[in-house]
Amino acid sequence: MAYDEDTLNKIYDRTNGRCHICGKKLSFINYFQFGRKGAWEVEHSHPRVKGGSDHRNNLYAACISCNRGKGTVTTQTARAWYGRTKAPLSKVKRKEVRQSHAIAGALLGAFVGLFAGPGGALVGAAIGGKIGYDSNPDK
Ligand SMILES: [Zn+2]
Repeated sequence: MAYDEDTLNKIYDRTNGRCHICGKKLSFINYFQFGRKGAWEVEHSHPRVKGGSDHRNNLYAACISCNRGKGTVTTQTARAWYGRTKAPLSKVKRKEVRQSHAIAGALLGAFVGLFAGPGGALVGAAIGGKIGYDSNPDK
């Protein structure tokens, strides 16, 4: 199946330009360019031979070796080979997750800081928010 540029863009952006199985950075312009650096293909998370659809929520960017190597195992199994449980997050999602970590961190920090007196809550919130924001959104 051939995909138009718009669809490819959306599939690529969905995982922030990374292989959804191993997390390796892919090169958008090397779509279907076998042997090129960052070459990738569109992977059906639920394989078509097993009834998976061509709907975009079943499509992910994957490097060619991952796509071919996955065969008929589940996406979950293939990701586990690389110690991963989820697809890399899109840019927008990463930001959302970081912000929610920052808020959770700030609340926790403020709570911990309360025990150090009124000023402690503010300092604790600032530190907690920073740690939350810096935490890895893929975890
Ligand atoms: Zn890969």
